[in-house]
Amino acid sequence: MAGAWREGWLSGAFERRSPHFDARPEGTSVDLLVLHYISLPPGVFGTGDPERLFLGTLDADARPEYAPLRGLRVSSHFLIERTGRVSQFVSVHDRAWHAGLSNFRGRNACNDFSVGVELEGCGDRPFEDAQYAALEALVQDLRRELPLRFVTGHEHIAPERKADPGPFFDWERVRRFLPEGMETAIRPEDCCREMLAERMRSLAAGRG
Ligand SMILES: [Zn+2]
Repeated sequence: MAGAWREGWLSGAFERRSPHFDARPEGTSVDLLVLHYISLPPGVFGTGDPERLFLGTLDADARPEYAPLRGLRVSSHFLIERTGRVSQFVSVHDRAWHAGLSNFRGRNACNDFSVGVELEGCGDRPFEDAQYAALEALVQDLRRELPLRFVTGHEHIAPERKADPGPFFDWERVRRFLPEGMETAIRPEDCCREMLAERMRSLAAGRG
């Protein structure tokens, strides 16, 4: 069943408001969907810790491998758990903090103009059928609210730095269920590495 939208929040998604967001730049057209994977600890599912990370409530002392996550302020618009349950953390009209330094077809800072969807998963095993089904329904819902045109992966807009959603993600399956007018964009040339490198140099030089 199609979900209804209210101020950028999708009915039917489990609403868990994150403090990690801000406004999109004025007049931004949100045309990109960015797919990710996350599991905390990596490769362990159903812990609830990815949700805590996005909500800012993760206990960084709970496990030694969480130490690098201390103070990290990240989020995603949506998370799809292994069961297919969908949670929403940020209104799609606001900017979630999921992509970081990134470039899509000559545009830097993909958070400005994208929706971020995290799939509970990792880089060494397949995703669940329930997750693809939930993603398909979510894309249909998103398309009614936003002028989405492209679906890409974090690894494609932040190459070398990121590896998700990784080799086990079935892009062909996604391509088949995309609504008309949307396409996958996962070729190397969909990211302008020169612009990304220039942005990194300017950040390193403190020029913002
Ligand atoms: Zn990612």
